[in-house]
Amino acid sequence: MPGQEMCIKIPNIIVWRWRSFLLKRGFSENKGKKYTSFRKKYTDLSKRDESEIKGLRRKFCLKTGISCDIIDENFVRNTSYRKDFFENNKPKYGNKYRCIYCGRLFVKEKITVDHIYPVDAAKYKANQVFLKLFGIKDINCLKNLGAACERCNKRKSAKTGMWVVKGIIGKSDFLWYVRYVLRILLILCLLFVFFYTYLVHKEFFNAAYSTFIK
Ligand SMILES: [Zn+2]
Repeated sequence: MPGQEMCIKIPNIIVWRWRSFLLKRGFSENKGKKYTSFRKKYTDLSKRDESEIKGLRRKFCLKTGISCDIIDENFVRNTSYRKDFFENNKPKYGNKYRCIYCGRLFVKEKITVDHIYPVDAAKYKANQVFLKLFGIKDINCLKNLGAACERCNKRKSAKTGMWVVKGIIGKSDFLWYVRYVLRILLILCLLFVFFYTYLVHKEFFNAAYSTFIK
């Protein structure tokens, strides 16, 4: 069950001051080259947990300047998002999926599952507040997942802005059909303009043809 994880990173030189304090409170220790990180998971936040988090934040972040992060697991990539996507989205075009960014069709093996609002951007608190405004409380929810070809996924990477707008629009089949119809209409218009110009200025084209070609 996703919850929150607190991660406190302490420089190894001063870790002796805090180690027993944190271990006593249920943190697990992971020693690195320069820093030791202490992690603790809170699954459902009780009042006690909340006051513990607040107290620890004050103690570490504000007083000592030690880095202390609270990771909301709803905004971290989970391991089952690809499986969840394919379970809930069966291929619509034979056995193919449409890339939400370029509209081309690909078989399941060639398609990637993309977080429309990127996971990297969702780790910031301000962005999480923004996402919640649009009803996204979990970055791995189906609303935020879309099929993308490898090329588009690579080009998009962790970009937001127009890519997110493109992704949301690209999920709608109707809008792809509108796009195809508009494209065909544009081609027909161009052909019409071309023939119309030719018919009106037939003599001019014939004169030009006989001057330059003959
Ligand atoms: Zn694509």
